[in-house]
Amino acid sequence: MWTNKKRTCKGDCCTPEGKEAGIECACFDGKAECDEDCGCDPTKCKNRQMSLRQSLKLGDDVEERISWGIDICTALNLICVLPMSLGNTCKSDFIEDKLIFAIQ
Ligand SMILES: [Zn+2]
Ligand SMILES: [Zn+2]
Repeated sequence: MWTNKKRTCKGDCCTPEGKEAGIECACFDGKAECDEDCGCDPTKCKNRQMSLRQSLKLGDDVEERISWGIDICTALNLICVLPMSLGNTCKSDFIEDKLIFAIQ
């Protein structure tokens, strides 16, 4: 992932101590990662996860679990594509009582 978004900070804000002190970070507030123009130490900065490839690891940071059902976003998308003439209760009943059992 790559972006043209450019922010810089002084470097006292994106360390664990800075976050704990509640110091506002221009990079973090602008939803941008720190880079070489920031004044922070790359070994202490907590706003470089993507450039340092610090993604969550399955098994270490993330646990895989079997779940049942559909997420709310999928449910709302399904409600949007069902005929408008059906009421919302009818649409929900169709998804929860018919569709879920048909696709499991
Ligand atoms: Zn920064
Ligand atoms: Zn930083």
